[in-house]
Amino acid sequence: MKRLFTLAITIAVSCAAQAQEQKEYPKPEAMRPGMSEYWTPQPKVITPGDIKTDTAPSDAVVLFDGKDLSAWMNPNGEKAEWTVKNGVMTVDKSKGDIVTRQKFGSFQLHLEWCVPTGITGESQARGNSGVFLQDMYEVQILDCFNNETYVNGMTGSIYKQTPPLANAMRKPGEWNVYDIIYTAPVFKEDGTYLYRPFVTVIQNGIVLQNHTEIQGTTEYIGFPRTVKHGEGPIRLQSHGDPSQPISFRNIWIRPL
Ligand code: MG
Repeated sequence: MKRLFTLAITIAVSCAAQAQEQKEYPKPEAMRPGMSEYWTPQPKVITPGDIKTDTAPSDAVVLFDGKDLSAWMNPNGEKAEWTVKNGVMTVDKSKGDIVTRQKFGSFQLHLEWCVPTGITGESQARGNSGVFLQDMYEVQILDCFNNETYVNGMTGSIYKQTPPLANAMRKPGEWNVYDIIYTAPVFKEDGTYLYRPFVTVIQNGIVLQNHTEIQGTTEYIGFPRTVKHGEGPIRLQSHGDPSQPISFRNIWIRPL
C-alpha cells in the first residue's frame, strides 16, 4: 500500500513538472524606432547672447583649424574626404562619418557648427549630424530652430536618452558653439559599468546637459547597451537625411 502511495506521488510531481515545462509566456514585442522617442515637454526656447569666436587654448589638441582634415580619417582608416573651403569643413554625405585619428579618454571639446541658410526638411531630417564621444555616445546636432522633434533627439540631447535643458539654437546661417566636458566611464572586469560616463554640454553659453549620466551606447532602435571600451575617437556624423549638409570650424580638444 505504502509503495503504491509513493508511486502516485512520484507520478503527480512529474506531471506537474511537465506542465511547468510546457507553459509558454508572451515574448517581448519587437522594438520599433518610435517606441524610444517622446515629444513632451518641449524645452523652452532661449535666444543666445553674442559670443565671439574662440581660438584654441595653448594646450589644446587642434582637431580642425580651417586648413585641412589631417586630424581625421574615415572609420576604415582611409583619408577623410569632407569638403574644406574658406576655413570651414562641410559634411560630404556620400563619404560617410569621420573620426579623429587620435583616441581620447575624458576631455573638454570645443566645436562650432553651422546649418546652411535655406535648409529644408523637418524633425530629424533637417541638418542632422552629431558628435560621438569615444565613438559610443552621441550628443545630437540638428537644426532645432523652429523645428520640433522628439525631445530626446533634439540638439544637445544625449540621443534617445536625455533631452536638453533648453533650446539654444541660432538660426540657419549663424554659427553655433558647443563646449562639451566629458568624463569617461570605468568598467568592471565583467564588462559592466563601475561608473557610467558623464557629460556636460554647453551650446552658445547655455547649459543643455549638466553633468548628465549617460546610460549606455547610442541606439537608434532599442535601449542603451553596456559595451566595455577603452579610449576612443571623436566621431562626426554624416547623417543620411536628404537635407543640405552642415559645416564645422574651430574644433579643439583638451584631454583631462
Ligand atoms: Mg545625429
